[in-house]
Amino acid sequence: MLTTVQEKTKTTFGTFFLPGPTEVRPEVLAAMTKPMIGHRVAEMEELMGAIQPRLQRIFRTKRPVYISASSATGLMEGGLRNGARQRVLSLVNGAFSDRFLQIARANGFDADALHVPWGHGHTPEMLAEALHGRDYDTVTVVHSETSTGALNPIRELAQVTHEAGDVVLLVDSVSGLSGADMRTDEWNVDYVLTGSQKAFALPPGLAFAVAQTNVLERAQVQKNRGIYFDFLEFERNIQKNQTPNTPAVSLLYALDEQTRYIEEEGLENRLARHRAMAERTWAWCDELGLEILAPPQFRGPTVTTVRCPEGVTGPKVAAAVKQQGFQIATGYGKLKDESFRIGHMGDHTVDRLEALLEVLTDVLRR
Ligand SMILES: *Cc1c(COP(=O)(O)O)cnc(C)c1O
Repeated sequence: MLTTVQEKTKTTFGTFFLPGPTEVRPEVLAAMTKPMIGHRVAEMEELMGAIQPRLQRIFRTKRPVYISASSATGLMEGGLRNGARQRVLSLVNGAFSDRFLQIARANGFDADALHVPWGHGHTPEMLAEALHGRDYDTVTVVHSETSTGALNPIRELAQVTHEAGDVVLLVDSVSGLSGADMRTDEWNVDYVLTGSQKAFALPPGLAFAVAQTNVLERAQVQKNRGIYFDFLEFERNIQKNQTPNTPAVSLLYALDEQTRYIEEEGLENRLARHRAMAERTWAWCDELGLEILAPPQFRGPTVTTVRCPEGVTGPKVAAAVKQQGFQIATGYGKLKDESFRIGHMGDHTVDRLEALLEVLTDVLRR
């Protein structure tokens, strides 16, 4: 068992191109083997205190960044339970944005969907029209739809949301943040969440979010915001560099290592590297005459969904690629057979992507 793990971490970094979880650098994995510390001791507060400003720079915010020992779904639910009053409009363009809608309904909110075809994004005009004369108090949206590769124009959608009055925008940027540009404060994003296992290139198990003060004000009068994702508790604790419950200590070590690494690379360079990987992927699709699901104006920098050419399926392509030592994903949900997805996010490089595309070219030309 141990040998298998050791052998695995020895292989060349840059073969695991799933759009989540993404490949984790050996240094990050190693950081998690450090001994436990108590969570009400000075060392923990120092660790949390060192991580916090780095997270704020990644989120481009002055607000504290909450750290949750949960997967991202927890903070999707938390955003709704703290921030929504009653009437929710969910912008749906794929599986994860549909999940946001389902979470709203499962928590007792009165939620409608504004659908566009999978692969597309939502225009500000569309949202303005849907909000006009209606009583929605909350809009949910996915920044980077991991099921399709579509990127939504968050800055414009936030503007239109606020023009409609006392409406808040809850943004899922799970496969966006740290790979796609997200300017939380500058764009007036009321709430944005992400997970550790996508563009952050950490192991799964942590989620991060920023809630602006208008969301906290709503939380104060919410009777049913629960305990585990109570933002008032997150807020009170993060001010003291603490967490409401036992933190995932090992994952915080990983986060410490990775946020340091992201600062070293520089956020702008990291975003540019993601754009370069995406553009290389799109150019490769053109070279091979392959169709990309998302139209050019809605393409995101972290994941590309490619329609399968005649005679192959998503699972067949993924299996053939795996035989050559690389991993990509099939299409998601209803797109499983007709497409495959390349997760060009996290700590991958254009060079390793090039190696993957060579294998894919070979597989598709067989
Ligand atoms: C992966 C993903 C989620 C779900 O995250 P979990 O960590 O599995 O809870 C939600 N939204 C998007 C856009 C995702 O890519």
